[in-house]
Amino acid sequence: MTAGLAPGLASVLDLASVLVALDFDGTLAPITPHPEDARPLAGVHQVLRDVRATGAALAVVTGRSVSSLLRVSGFGAIPGIVIYGTHGAERWQAGSLRTAAAPPGLGELRERLPGLVAGIVRDRDVWVEDKSLSLVVHARLTAQPERVLDRLREPVEEAAAAAGLGVRPGREVLEICLPGIDKGTAVRELLGEDRAAVLYAGDDVGDLDAMAEVNAWAERVGRPGLTVAVGAAGGPVAGVADVTVPDPEGLLDLLRRLLGVAWPAWPSGLGSWR
Ligand SMILES: [Mg+2]
Repeated sequence: MTAGLAPGLASVLDLASVLVALDFDGTLAPITPHPEDARPLAGVHQVLRDVRATGAALAVVTGRSVSSLLRVSGFGAIPGIVIYGTHGAERWQAGSLRTAAAPPGLGELRERLPGLVAGIVRDRDVWVEDKSLSLVVHARLTAQPERVLDRLREPVEEAAAAAGLGVRPGREVLEICLPGIDKGTAVRELLGEDRAAVLYAGDDVGDLDAMAEVNAWAERVGRPGLTVAVGAAGGPVAGVADVTVPDPEGLLDLLRRLLGVAWPAWPSGLGSWR
């Protein structure tokens, strides 16, 4: 039993583990103009290994495909890590990949989308990324990303709906994705009912689903759920999380400080950050 914790929580600690689930781009890695150039901040690998060494379950929940995440992050070398890719449509652990089924319309839209986009916005800096289970229209390299996306939003949404797909907004992107799967469904699967506590950190609108799931779980089971927004005031997740840190460096500092709270006192450490 652990001194200083409520009896209910202390008994939970004997049965269950803390979950630490983290977004990647903008959370563990600075945002780069091109996704392939992103790399984890120096020190991230060691902190993730230290998180695992406490006995916590560790997951990265990213909008990237699993293969892209593994390529740019090197996280495949971290023992026990679970990776949810393409906003939860893929799950990877220890070399084994599970993939959601795509609707038949995805293949046709893959062929059609670049022409559709080019017919609306004549800008070479708008490009379509094929993530296999999703298609992403990128406007980050243009002079006015939001204006470009405003013009594209309705026609892209119509084309996606006709193909049985949804559209998810992101940071200077529109992402065509599988309906009914998001970072919230990934976090729900990771949490189950027997976790002692959870920490989730992210920086973008896609992370809001995960944070909502953490809050719903914490409310339902009465255990600590801590959400961390990464980014300056005015960003996509500002004001919705329990804690806000300015950048990936700030998140690393927070994780290091939480790691200073010896397991199994982690959950109470999380609670003290609220
Ligand atoms: Mg992100």
